Amino acid sequence: MLVAPVRRRLLSHSSLRAMSIYVLPIDPAAPSRPAVPGLDPAKLWSSVPAAPKPPNAGTARVFYGVPAAGDASNVTALASLGDGFAAKRANEKRELVRKAVGGAVKHVRDIGEGVDGRLVSVDASADPHAAAVAAHLALYKFTLKTSPPSAFNPAAKDASPEKLAFKPLTDSNEWQTGVIYARAQNLARTLMELPANMITPTAFTERIKQEFAGVPNVEIIVRDAAWAAEKGMRTFLSVAKGTSEPPKFLEIHYKGAAKDAQPLVFVGKGITFDSGGISLKPSAGMKLMRGDMGGAATVCAAALAIAQLKLPVNLVVLTPLTENLPGPSANKPGDIVYAMNGKSVEIDNTDAEGRLVLSDALYYGSSTFKPHTIIDVATLTGAMDTALGEIYTGVFTNSDSLWSELDTAGKIEFDRFWRMPLEEDYGPQIYSSNADLCNTGGKPAGCCTAALFLKSFVDGVEPAADGAAPARRWAHIDIAGTMEATRPTPYQETGMTGRPTRALIEFVKRLGAH
Ligand SMILES: [Zn+2]
Repeated sequence: MLVAPVRRRLLSHSSLRAMSIYVLPIDPAAPSRPAVPGLDPAKLWSSVPAAPKPPNAGTARVFYGVPAAGDASNVTALASLGDGFAAKRANEKRELVRKAVGGAVKHVRDIGEGVDGRLVSVDASADPHAAAVAAHLALYKFTLKTSPPSAFNPAAKDASPEKLAFKPLTDSNEWQTGVIYARAQNLARTLMELPANMITPTAFTERIKQEFAGVPNVEIIVRDAAWAAEKGMRTFLSVAKGTSEPPKFLEIHYKGAAKDAQPLVFVGKGITFDSGGISLKPSAGMKLMRGDMGGAATVCAAALAIAQLKLPVNLVVLTPLTENLPGPSANKPGDIVYAMNGKSVEIDNTDAEGRLVLSDALYYGSSTFKPHTIIDVATLTGAMDTALGEIYTGVFTNSDSLWSELDTAGKIEFDRFWRMPLEEDYGPQIYSSNADLCNTGGKPAGCCTAALFLKSFVDGVEPAADGAAPARRWAHIDIAGTMEATRPTPYQETGMTGRPTRALIEFVKRLGAH
């Protein structure tokens, strides 16, 4: 009676152990030979009937029962690195590795529940960091469906396991950093995907505290509306008047450098739902506005990776968090509010609330912490989406060196930026109302007038009277276009992107290395 169940358990246990899954990027012109018995990628690849033109990078083929040694259920996914891989430049190569690994992982993922919980061995030798990034990004698929239980359910008591786990054929530090980069981006994606009833300002701060639990050299402070009122954050609080959800102002302090080393400040727009307020948005597509906290999500996620990597910088992250709803006390078009720095602001359109919450956060961040560099990230304007779509993220900055550093980081991670004009000549569009500033400047160059609006609240952003460089380097990053991907790539599904998390981490990594 006792024997049969024990044997059955042993059998299933041994078959689980024996089944192996391999993900192997392959340069069709020069296939490498990983040290896996019974696996010859070149031979496998040549067994597929040749097409008239070489396959694109990321094109994958799955082979079942390969390698033949061991278990018959072994699976090997080969993916092409594309034509002429060896001659490509470093940044291009990295992206080809991401496409190939991502393409192969997607195929394995799509095999179904039979592979759930399996360990996948990845040949990461072409670029361990990029391979780890692609594997973990490609695996990501947000869902709150209940069968099988979703790992994304914030109410779940036990974390359900990831569908697949990855390990490189040869472990390396670069692989480990890639895992941290990708997990950070996936966290930002999750925060953006989760609906607004689940990620309220309060829930956002709780989740961030959970994510940072046990990470050294980090202090997290959650400020409430009374604190913001005492600071004079009237433009921030004016937005919060329209909802009954309490606003929060989250501060993350990471100390990775000497105590007195001048910090870097990140500011992230944290509108957990943007209805537009009294200037109500059209209902079609409004659910996308659950992601209007993408700035807050990406700067917090980047900070988590920066702290986990123990990068040698001091970083302060500030995120004003609120909903923008048309409640009975909501801002009304034409209202005039005095911001924390004393400037008067006319609220001509209550849907231009992002710059209202950011203006106080930028002034608080720049005047209190006196950073060398301050960067805000925000899903700010539809005009940004119109200008650059979902390919490039727009950057407005007073500093050529900061632009060049962001540009480099974005190219390395293929999370790319494009420099936009920060130009006083757009000023008349926002300086001509009854207040110092108007929160809309009309349709032309809407992303440029938004950037110029924010500049008025960054302390130390102007050149000194003697022409010396400004005290602070500032960049405004508008992610309204890149917050969502409507077309998949080999390593990223459609949906909230979590961009530019990886570019920000890479920027800080290089900053710390100076
Ligand atoms: Zn809005």
